[in-house]
Amino acid sequence: MARYSGPVCRQCRREQTKLFLKGEKCHTKCVLDRRPTPPGQAKPARGKPSSYAIRLREKQKLRRMAGITEKPLRRLMEAASKKPEATGEQLLRGLELRLDNVVKRSGIAASLKGARQFVLHRHVLVGGRPINVPSYVLKPGDVVSCAPALKDNVGVKLSLETAKRLANRPGFLEFDEEKISVKVLRAPERSEMSWLVNDQLIVEYYSR
Ligand code: SF4
Repeated sequence: MARYSGPVCRQCRREQTKLFLKGEKCHTKCVLDRRPTPPGQAKPARGKPSSYAIRLREKQKLRRMAGITEKPLRRLMEAASKKPEATGEQLLRGLELRLDNVVKRSGIAASLKGARQFVLHRHVLVGGRPINVPSYVLKPGDVVSCAPALKDNVGVKLSLETAKRLANRPGFLEFDEEKISVKVLRAPERSEMSWLVNDQLIVEYYSR
């Protein structure tokens, strides 16, 4: 399945919830506030959704939030189901510790899309070495920093200012303002994760 490259806000309208895919704009000028209907429909569909549809939508919501295709999500799900911890929580933890997500949550990038671009262009270092794999899973103790070119980037400066103003960096990350680097202190708790989904429904979807 190819990566979605259409209008970003359309995905929120499809899921009928804010997925926060556009950085600060999501907090100030959200399209969903002005156009709350699903794309292609003047009015929301009538009738009760089936239990399958409810689970499918929850899974799609997570996939869109994380900006990944079906294959890697299924792979993460398989890995999570082999761990002794609760499968849903473990799945979300795996997504939370992806390099692109940590770059976004630390405030270096305003959105996951921007974070992924920084990583792909080798502007992000892990332990001093450039890593160009957005799905790279970080471990406690890893330090993520920026290449010199990224430190002077205007977009990064604006994004860091927004992160400082919103004060929404999670507790499992320690941000160093001077070095513009972030350290993963520990595995994230469920309450610290950014995925506004019911993970139980997603586990049920994959256990059909
Ligand atoms: Fe979604 Fe953000 Fe667009 Fe609002 S502004 S619809 S939250 S991507």
